[in-house]
Amino acid sequence: MGVQLDWENLGFVYRDLPYRFRATWKDGEWHSEGLVQGNQLVISESSSALHYGQQCFEGLKAYRTKTGDLQLFRPDMNSKRLNASASRLLMPEVPQEMFIEACKDVVRANADYVPPYGTGGTLYLRPLLIGVGDMIGVAPATEYIFTVFAMPVGNYFKGGLKPAKFLASFDYDRAAPFGTGAAKVGGNYAASLYPGKVAKGQNYAEVVYLDPATHTKIEEVGAANFFGITKDGTFITPKSPSILPSITKYSLLYLAEHRLGLKAVEGDVFIDELDQFAEAGACGTAAVITPVGAINVRGTEHVFFSETEVGPTIKRLYDELTGIQFGDIEAPEGWIYKV
Ligand SMILES: *Cc1c(COP(=O)(O)O)cnc(C)c1O
Repeated sequence: MGVQLDWENLGFVYRDLPYRFRATWKDGEWHSEGLVQGNQLVISESSSALHYGQQCFEGLKAYRTKTGDLQLFRPDMNSKRLNASASRLLMPEVPQEMFIEACKDVVRANADYVPPYGTGGTLYLRPLLIGVGDMIGVAPATEYIFTVFAMPVGNYFKGGLKPAKFLASFDYDRAAPFGTGAAKVGGNYAASLYPGKVAKGQNYAEVVYLDPATHTKIEEVGAANFFGITKDGTFITPKSPSILPSITKYSLLYLAEHRLGLKAVEGDVFIDELDQFAEAGACGTAAVITPVGAINVRGTEHVFFSETEVGPTIKRLYDELTGIQFGDIEAPEGWIYKV
């Protein structure tokens, strides 16, 4: 490979790679520019993405296998979710074929930047759809840009499978009961910066968001989904219309049931009933699985398996998931797309 980076210590930081995919939408049609160079976008100062938050995005990874092949994990699911987010914000859908081919093209064009097998690093892809054009009234844009860019990354939460501590938030929500919590839109993230800062100021990794109507049930862990393993061996993850439907979470639900033989359910997880859990975790493409060591609930820390060690069931889930993603373990049908 022509590129030398500190592959073991990439962190989760932006890097300006040579190629990205671009397409523009106007008059009801997508026009693909294919792969382009240069990381700057020139857009109107009046773009709806800038003023009214008319934008959505995705996050997925490309993995290098032991034999050097490159592969994507369930990009069809990211395509479906991008289109669900787009519909919620009255943006045009991106055809699935264009989405998946754009991801593959970006991986191929930047292949030297896909970290070597065994380093734990991956190529993170960021598809982004934004409303642009000249317009100032509150209305859907008449033009859109779809772009996919990429960067090599390591773990999102430093320390990988080391447990992190979180702060339950009774004062701030990331989404409203019937708002845009289930859409992957920037506005949800802007609203989460302040509570995230409060948590970090108290030495917690992030906030645990509760259901916005009653503040009694867990919804999300920062920008990751929550799951717990009960003392009698059931995998439980919250169900709510204001949770972002994590592809990692649905993959773990499947693997818990079909590979680990656990009972796996979506249901209510009450913040005052954490004693039922032997282990807990946060999951997402960027976080993969981060064990939840403890949650501060109204000033008292509830410790799960351990504040320093990963529990046995989460370790098995992590090994199964990452084994599939890096091509060491056979994947359920349709999960892996060769680049
Ligand atoms: C993207 C995201 C997740 C994780 O979803 P994955 O598909 O597993 O990457 C979880 N919560 C929020 C708020 C997100 O934006």
